[in-house]
Amino acid sequence: MAVQRTFSIIKPDATRRNLTGKVNAMLEAGGLRIVAQKRIHMTQAQAASFYGVHKERPFFKSLCDFMTSGPVVVQVLEGENAVARNREIMGATNPANAEPGTIRKEVAESIEANSVHGSDSPENAAIEIAYFFAGSEIVG
Ligand code: ADP
Ligand code: MG
Repeated sequence: MAVQRTFSIIKPDATRRNLTGKVNAMLEAGGLRIVAQKRIHMTQAQAASFYGVHKERPFFKSLCDFMTSGPVVVQVLEGENAVARNREIMGATNPANAEPGTIRKEVAESIEANSVHGSDSPENAAIEIAYFFAGSEIVG
């Protein structure tokens, strides 16, 4: 499997509890390299666009409010099979269903405040990376 890139967000529940270092340590221990990273405060427009695929879901408004409730850390992660590897390290969307040792099992507060985002396909990873990063900001 080739080296791949994926897009990651450390969500507001984790930044609020000062857990960005803990999350990064878990990503790095899982074999991923952080090749770009910045702390931003998303606007409602950014959150609504980023999560546009979920706009018909009942949790959409709450999700956008949550994602703009505090700073986030947006990241590009690189490694072997990085998209799938990151999803393994993150664990299931609902922390109640996440495997022990995953970020969401160890850190997440709820199905909404679940501490991290990770791209679900290489195609979406490329779109999501380009949404937040210029090529010059990614240093592998
Ligand atoms: P994932 O982040 O695991 O890819 P989804 O893409 O399905 O999950 O959902 C995007 C985000 O929306 C989740 O990470 C979570 O923050 C929120 N979310 C998903 N399902 C629910 C739900 N049933 N209730 C509240 N928030 C949810
Ligand atoms: Mg998703």
